[in-house]
Amino acid sequence: MTPPPEPPDGAPGPDELTAEEQERYARQLGPGVLTPAAQTRLKQATVLISRAGGIGGPAALAVTMAGVGHIIIAHGGNLESPDLNRQVLGAESGLGQARAAQFGQRLRSLNRFVTVEVIPREPDDTEALSLARRAHLVIACAPTFVERLRLNAAAVAARVPLIDAAQWGMTGTLMVLQPHRTACLRCIYPETPPFEEQFPVVGAISSAMGSLAALEAIKILSGCGDPPWGQLLTYDGFRGRCHHVQLRRDPLCCCCGQNPAG
Ligand SMILES: [Zn+2]
Repeated sequence: MTPPPEPPDGAPGPDELTAEEQERYARQLGPGVLTPAAQTRLKQATVLISRAGGIGGPAALAVTMAGVGHIIIAHGGNLESPDLNRQVLGAESGLGQARAAQFGQRLRSLNRFVTVEVIPREPDDTEALSLARRAHLVIACAPTFVERLRLNAAAVAARVPLIDAAQWGMTGTLMVLQPHRTACLRCIYPETPPFEEQFPVVGAISSAMGSLAALEAIKILSGCGDPPWGQLLTYDGFRGRCHHVQLRRDPLCCCCGQNPAG
């Protein structure tokens, strides 16, 4: 195989930060935030965000603006009026139209230095695994346990970190999981819980959990900070209280245990 050509006249290589990128990310480069090397690692990273609505939309916004180089968002269906209390990538002008295309367009309008790939549906088992294998990290923002556990299984099989963010009412949860090192989502939910289709949610908690999910993704992908591995963070927004729990891995888990099913 022929090696890639050297960049001319000392210009940055394809994986290095250009002067324009350094200018764009200037406010997040420095002590206590990202180093140039960490920013470069973000540029080289691919993240999968499945569902880019109430939680996934703000998560996608934050990783796009932070400069994660390749972002894959997956979301099916058309934008409906009740979505606009929380789905920040949507707009009044996009009502009745496919969510995925307009969400992708919005993200691309924010940062010309990143690539946004759009999957206009919720992935099935096969596609979730295929996408997870192309990603360095998965952010699961799906409302249903079936989808969350599907993304968990894909992340476990692909051996990439999973950040699971969820919401109900004014409460949000966040789990930062590392396959085969921490608990996985199936360790916590051996049986798939029932799902309430029209659950209540206030958009402010969606945005908060999506932003926190993005922050942990940025930390993990760039190698900065101290991710709360294997922990469940619950923010009870109704009472303004925060709880942390260390999750325990189940050695008999059917997904990540010693004798996984399937
Ligand atoms: Zn497990």
